[in-house]
Amino acid sequence: MTEFDYDLFVIGGGSGGVRAGRLAAGMGKKVAIAEEYRFGGTCVIRGCVPKKLLVYASQFREQFEDSAGYGFTCGEATFDWPTLVANKDREITRLEGLYRKGLENAGAEIIESRAVLLDPHTVRIEKTGQTVTAERVLIAVGGSANPHAALPGHELCITSNEAFDLAELPKAVVIAGGGYIAVEFANIFHGLGVETTLIYRGKEILSRFDRDMRKGLHRAMEQKGIRILCGEIFARIERGPDGRLIAHTSEGKALACDQVMLALGRDPNTHGLGLEAAGVATGPKGEILVDAFSRTNVDSIYAVGDVTDRLQLTPVAIHEAMCFVDTVYRDRPTSPDHDMIATAVFSQPEIGTVGLSEDAASRRFDALEIYRAEFRPMKATLSGRAEKMIMKIVVNAENRNVLGVHILGHEAGEMAQLLGIALKAGCTKDDFDRTMAVHPTASEELVTMYQPSYRVKAGERV
Ligand SMILES: Cc1cc2nc3c(=O)[nH]c(=O)nc-3n(C[C@H](O)[C@H](O)[C@H](O)COP(=O)(O)OP(=O)(O)OC[C@H]3O[C@@H](n4cnc5c(N)ncnc54)[C@H](O)[C@@H]3O)c2cc1C
Repeated sequence: MTEFDYDLFVIGGGSGGVRAGRLAAGMGKKVAIAEEYRFGGTCVIRGCVPKKLLVYASQFREQFEDSAGYGFTCGEATFDWPTLVANKDREITRLEGLYRKGLENAGAEIIESRAVLLDPHTVRIEKTGQTVTAERVLIAVGGSANPHAALPGHELCITSNEAFDLAELPKAVVIAGGGYIAVEFANIFHGLGVETTLIYRGKEILSRFDRDMRKGLHRAMEQKGIRILCGEIFARIERGPDGRLIAHTSEGKALACDQVMLALGRDPNTHGLGLEAAGVATGPKGEILVDAFSRTNVDSIYAVGDVTDRLQLTPVAIHEAMCFVDTVYRDRPTSPDHDMIATAVFSQPEIGTVGLSEDAASRRFDALEIYRAEFRPMKATLSGRAEKMIMKIVVNAENRNVLGVHILGHEAGEMAQLLGIALKAGCTKDDFDRTMAVHPTASEELVTMYQPSYRVKAGERV
């Protein structure tokens, strides 16, 4: 029998890699995990966590304004970007330490280096040039922002990576993209007092979300003063004589700003990873192709997380890693369940969503009932804020199964998490109807919409 150096070699110390490495090592397997940058990966170092901290920061201005209607006088608020960045950095360093500690405590060997595959069982550690062998390799290298290299002047632009650590807060920013990262950063920058423009080639932002959420958020963002240009793209970016950037658009606009941020999708980190040498098959974007158990076409190599381009979310990467451990080391073949995943857009207002949008549901089911409420939340009555909340329940008219719930409004992400449990359990609209309301809350609207707002038959509203 062949002797390997390790039972498992994990490439990538992000959400998926750390979880798999820690669990397998905790079971007594001999595990090494290589990370080329910082343990914790995108989520902890330059994704979900620092982003949410910036989201919190960006909400205070409105909260100070809102407090006036409740009798407070706050005076003029000032904001110091370097303080926020330094505090954010301290927190992610703390979390990074916890990730490392978790691995060490479980007995995994930490390797601070890039690692590349040489064959189905051999990995080269780039920092030392050492080659090691493993019975199995788990690829969890994640993805990185698409640099849009075809755009003239792309080298003058930043991505979300740099946005977290800018030396100074720009006075004006233009962000390209219509996905959740672009939308969230537009809200963050605007909330921190930056003149913000969002430019997106599609007809409406957030293409994968329910149309009421997309339109409602678009409206709310414009009301706040965020400029949104849909149906437009960048033609080129250049530096003007005064040192500022000028973003030229396909419609002939010239947008002067201090930073241009590209949020145009993320590419799998597979370039130069040695996949060809190991014989691992990839898809058109360079994503690693896997079966229902996250196994590649090479028996000894598995892949989880963003690099497989299934659903690019932290809990999904973690779940896939746990399924990998169950399948390979616990003799419990488990394929990741990608159905009914609750998710959020941390914009202002937030979107919280679980299940199918109305459009997606109408493509799959013949008859729908749509329950929809749009209202001014109670808190806004005294604050005077014009913002509206939207709640929408998509129901299969045939069996009353709830197919999707979508919320636009304060704390929508928190609500989506709880709704995710109910929908995962397969609840029906009747379950919603017999649930007692929590009063007074905004979410009570979800259990008090007794009559459909409208019905959809064969894709048509009736
Ligand atoms: C700005 C932003 C905001 C986000 N917000 C959210 C959110 O709110 N909620 C949510 O669920 N998800 C969010 N995400 C997505 C989330 O961060 C990812 O889905 C998640 O991190 C994927 O985990 P992963 O393990 O697949 O990869 P990653 O976490 O990206 O980890 C991969 C690791 O591999 C390392 N690596 C790459 N190549 C090599 C190599 N050859 N050798 C060694 N190491 C290597 C990288 O340095 C990295 O640390 C956000 C992402 C971004 C960019």
